[in-house]
Formats: sequence, C-alpha cells, structure tokens
Amino acid sequence: MAKICQFCGNKNFKSVNVEYTYKKNDQLLMVKNVPCEQCEYCGEQYFHADILKGIEQEFNDIYSGGKKPFLEIRVPIQNFADIRKAS
Ligand SMILES: [Zn+2]
Repeated sequence: MAKICQFCGNKNFKSVNVEYTYKKNDQLLMVKNVPCEQCEYCGEQYFHADILKGIEQEFNDIYSGGKKPFLEIRVPIQNFADIRKAS
C-alpha cells in the first residue's frame, strides 16, 4: 500500500473502514465499510486497486445486471444558484 502520502508527505497510515461513493454517468453506488489506508495527518484515503475493481463490478451488477442492493435511498439534488439565502 501507499508508503508516503501524495498530498502531505506523511508516512504514517492507519487501516480504517470508510464509506466510498462510486459515481459514473450520474449514477451512484455508496459502499459502506470499505477498507482503506488513511493518512494520519491529512486524512487522505488510499484504496487497493482490487477493492476499487470490486466496487466497480458491483456497480455494474446492480445497474446492468439487476442485482438488488442492500439498501436504496432517495437523494435530493440541487443547484447552488437555486439555494435561497437565509433572510
Ligand atoms: Zn497526508
């Protein structure tokens, strides 16, 4: 895995499980409890290529193969220009 953080140069990482959002053509897949190495200084997350490949495969299984995900949620989308300022 990563030896030096590409963003801050720190060398200390911790193994954590995080939420990962995969996005392709306005379609989203959120995956919970994805293992990664996280920089202890800046928090940048590094994922193993096999893990990202697995998530991409799962995305295809769900959107193209009709696989039923663990959970589905509705996500509101808004343009910032349409957000009304608090008066
Ligand atoms: Zn870092």
